Amino acid sequence: MKFVNSNKEKIKEYNKEHKLKYYIDTMGCQMNENDSLKYAGIFESMGFEKGTEADSNFYLFNTCCVRENAENTLFGRLGYLKQKKLKGKDIYIAVVGCMSQQRHILEKIKQSYKFVDIVLGTGSMSLFPDKVYKILINNKKEIEYVDVGNEIEEEVPIIYEDKYKASVSIIYGCNNFCSYCIVPYVRGRERSRKPEDIISDITRLAKKGYKEIMLLGQNVNSYGNDFKEKKYGFPDLLKDIEKIDGIEIIRFMSPHPKDFKDDLIEVIKNSKKIARQIHLPLQSGSTKILKDMNRKYTKEDFLNIVEKLKKADENISISTDIIVGFPGETNEDFNDTLDVVKKVKFDQIYMFIYSKRVGTKAAKMEDNTPNEEKVRRLETLKKVYEEQLPYNNEKMIGKVYKVLVEGKSKNNDKLYTGRTSQNKVVIFEADEKDIGRLKNIIIDSQHLWYLKGRIIDN
Ligand code: SF4
Repeated sequence: MKFVNSNKEKIKEYNKEHKLKYYIDTMGCQMNENDSLKYAGIFESMGFEKGTEADSNFYLFNTCCVRENAENTLFGRLGYLKQKKLKGKDIYIAVVGCMSQQRHILEKIKQSYKFVDIVLGTGSMSLFPDKVYKILINNKKEIEYVDVGNEIEEEVPIIYEDKYKASVSIIYGCNNFCSYCIVPYVRGRERSRKPEDIISDITRLAKKGYKEIMLLGQNVNSYGNDFKEKKYGFPDLLKDIEKIDGIEIIRFMSPHPKDFKDDLIEVIKNSKKIARQIHLPLQSGSTKILKDMNRKYTKEDFLNIVEKLKKADENISISTDIIVGFPGETNEDFNDTLDVVKKVKFDQIYMFIYSKRVGTKAAKMEDNTPNEEKVRRLETLKKVYEEQLPYNNEKMIGKVYKVLVEGKSKNNDKLYTGRTSQNKVVIFEADEKDIGRLKNIIIDSQHLWYLKGRIIDN
């Protein structure tokens, strides 16, 4: 479905006089960040200017409901804006994204946060301009529940903040129903974008000078499973993106281990552009806990995929997500997680204590582990991870890597920063004109969270 904004010109006209500024507060994952870039595109196409948190009129909260404290964060921020609004300022507030796809949140806003003007869930961006029009011109609030549906909104205006790296969504929703996860309930079932739409977006970005593309989806490697007329999957898409001139680095996030098949590993192995970094969410190293999580792979399956990836290219780095303290996790289960961490030597681990989400299967499971014990496990995991971090970094010393120069270092404006294909941050001396270019850099030293190196080409 093509995104159509029939109110664009009328709101633009309104903004010529009122000069409203917008501010977007994004919570959660990269999918949400990508959606926020689209909301920015919609705002600017309607004549809004980008403002700051202090000087804006139109506040949009793009919410996440994966962690429990996100609700407190949202309602705290809304409370702050209420004061601003009460002072008689021209303030408008929209709450969009995963949290607002939950009926209990909608009811809470209707009852206790009546000053909110728009509530809109996921997958209904095309309704947003009409709601903005009604608020600004008709002074009419638009708070209603909209089902996620099956539509994919194409050609939504988008504003990328980066000039060389861009994210592109390839699939929306999720069919997996991991027992702890709320995503399938708030983002709906899997809907793959047509390959030609994705290819045309990326070709356009390449022509504008973008070098690195991040393909996004809740489960990228189930891309194409919903195509009825043809057989075309994630490996096919990767091969087609590889052919696009100008794109040098292809990343993707996140694949599901249960769908990480040999044909995908073969495409990664043969590609010159797919980053040598794979994010492979483990969640737990215990086969018993993985079963309770409904992850549909075992500890051994996971280790097997890692082994195949390393065999395909020993330079591949692996990052992961781990949940500690899932209901019923014993010390033995946790030791299985530590065992996988020690065997794989992950380059990056996003680790969390299990957070109960209302409406999921895991929320009904018995959870006898005291919180102090969960914190202890998290600390243990962190320690094991940090102790082994130098292992992979040290192997990189003395070797040459292609690095996309991203900009000046935040701490020293004589130094520049970029990332290797393995997603390792590198600091080095460079020139302003190198920004946006790929440079060969030899690694001299490692400093846990970053590497130092020198450009060796001129
Ligand atoms: S794969 Fe599992 S964890 Fe990931 S979005 Fe789907 S249900 Fe959630």
